[in-house]
Amino acid sequence: MASDTSRQLASTPRNRAENPRFAQTESARGYRGRFAPSPTGPLHFGSIIAAVGSYLQARRCRGEWLVRIDDLDGPRTEPGAANAILAELERLGLYWDGDVCYQSTRTERYRDGLERLREAGWTFPCGCSRKDFDGVYPGTCRDGLVPGRRARTRRMRVCGISVELDDAVQGRCNQRLPESVGDFVIRRADGIFAYHLAVVVDDAEFGITDIVRGADLLDSTPRQIHLQRCLGLPTPGYAHLPVAVNAVGQKLSKQTYAEPVTGNPAVPLVIDALEFLGQQPERALNDASLDELWSWAIAHWRMERVPRLRAIHWPPGQAVPHGSPISAKLTD
Ligand SMILES: [Zn+2]
Repeated sequence: MASDTSRQLASTPRNRAENPRFAQTESARGYRGRFAPSPTGPLHFGSIIAAVGSYLQARRCRGEWLVRIDDLDGPRTEPGAANAILAELERLGLYWDGDVCYQSTRTERYRDGLERLREAGWTFPCGCSRKDFDGVYPGTCRDGLVPGRRARTRRMRVCGISVELDDAVQGRCNQRLPESVGDFVIRRADGIFAYHLAVVVDDAEFGITDIVRGADLLDSTPRQIHLQRCLGLPTPGYAHLPVAVNAVGQKLSKQTYAEPVTGNPAVPLVIDALEFLGQQPERALNDASLDELWSWAIAHWRMERVPRLRAIHWPPGQAVPHGSPISAKLTD
């Protein structure tokens, strides 16, 4: 495992040398964060938030910031999207450390992880399909496949498991897995390893110490912590940023026709992201260069200023009166 990590990270970082900011932060204290977009389309404002938040927290902590392309779900991956995302990050001055990791190249590692869970008795084959039950999986195949059925998926046992998490933005969260999610799929019927398994294996192998991402993933975090524990892996720190939602409360995404930010001038876009994250950028920054803006942002970044909300309307003033307290909290 260690040799694999060093192989992937030892090479000269693609753009570290040309990144003047990295020179100021050479004394990494072991913090390692990441941004892990799915290449399902171009970056929109919602994904910029996660990129900016994770980047600033890493730089503020004089740590490293890695980029991973979560392209495990081949059918959802859009050709060319990964390269477009990386080009957009560079255009915005979001320079990463090390080589970009592509999940699609790492299925052997996920297979190893699944095998370890299977050997420890944590998984079972399941012959059910989605139409066999509503909501939480009722445990039909937990003690063996129903006669006449063949295994379709592999599920992870959650019996009696309750997970508590101290999130740097959302506070203390608690989830009882049996009632909330049930035994969950870790290898799908099409053979693709589930997102939860892949991210847990990757984050551990790449030494990620802190995960800063959108609050839409908060509910899946207890499943990932459960997997970390069963695999004997460390649990990183978590900070779930509010997600940007449109006027009707839908998360900005390709599916909700959020506009790509490609082509938007970089400085105002980063300023918008800083404002969204509660960092109160100074007016004078509107005339700053991108480098000056990032220097200000790194020096002034405070995670505790990020609104402790799951969601915020974007653009502002659409559904909430401009200047009023941000009030688009989704249900817990
Ligand atoms: Zn089943």
